[in-house]
Amino acid sequence: EAKKAGRGRYRFYSTTMKEEARRRKNSFDALLAGFDQGEITCHYQPQFDAKTLELTGLEALVRWESARFGLIMPEEFLQTAEDMGLLAQFDELVLRRALYDMERWQGAGLFVPPISVNVSAHRLNDPSLADRLRELDLPRGMLSFELLESAFLDARNDVIDKNLNVIGEMGIDIEIDDFGSGHASIASLLQIAPKRLKIDRTLIQPIVHSQRQRDLVRTIIGIGRMLDIRVVAEGVETAAHVPILNEMGCCYLQGFGLARPMDYACLTGFLADVMENEGRLLLA
Ligand code: C2E
Ligand code: MG
Ligand code: MG
Ligand code: MG
Repeated sequence: EAKKAGRGRYRFYSTTMKEEARRRKNSFDALLAGFDQGEITCHYQPQFDAKTLELTGLEALVRWESARFGLIMPEEFLQTAEDMGLLAQFDELVLRRALYDMERWQGAGLFVPPISVNVSAHRLNDPSLADRLRELDLPRGMLSFELLESAFLDARNDVIDKNLNVIGEMGIDIEIDDFGSGHASIASLLQIAPKRLKIDRTLIQPIVHSQRQRDLVRTIIGIGRMLDIRVVAEGVETAAHVPILNEMGCCYLQGFGLARPMDYACLTGFLADVMENEGRLLLA
């Protein structure tokens, strides 16, 4: 854990309970200060059509660009945000940021595909979500919400049902994220009827080496096809993954092997390059 914290050293090993409590308070204070100072932002990872490698989407991924600690990844602060009751606010900030950036890119004459944002269970369970979304005046067909299966399977209720309805009415797509990890449930595919389903990277990574893993992924894609749900492969790390997934009928690809998450400036250059290449990924 301490090694993962990297140059930021935002987390340390703790020795005593008192130490732990103090550090917890420090991490709360630091995160809150970062939030207040506008250091919470997002990077964007492109998604592509599996056949043509056309740019089909962007996933907005929250980042803490801390003046003090450097770039901090979501795994290192989302839990703290959740403990502080701030997770839904982070989600909303990312959504607003994505809309703002989308408008800037469009204003600069760049082609922008729909943007996906991650929506936590907290936000999906928030009775005021529908009103907040209506206030934002969201562009139809340009947004997608990624939900973890665990977000609604644990406690499916009226609030979630109402929110899912409103989201659909607003022209926002629903995707199931990290399918096949944790609380995998095939029943959720019928209950939620998502537009897309993202197969978790732990299932995608080994397909290059294992026939059994390929069979498993092929079967999930087949289920998706039967239910009219498009499948996205996460964690496409090598060029060798692409023809395999393509042959299996996987629709969309996302992964470090194609494009990494990029900040606003970097993605602006990327969008320009893609436009020059007729909407397709420019392979090195
Ligand atoms: P996720 O939604 O499944 O996002 C994909 C994660 O996989 C991202 O990590 C991305 O950088 C990483 N990834 C993409 N391609 C590859 C690959 O080829 N190999 C490997 N090893 N990793 C790859 P990131 O940005 O660190 O985000 C981690 C998780 O944090 C996300 O997983 C999501 O669950 C959560 N998260 C990120 N942003 C938000 C947000 O705004 N709100 C909420 N509630 N959760 C968020
Ligand atoms: Mg996601
Ligand atoms: Mg995912
Ligand atoms: Mg994930």
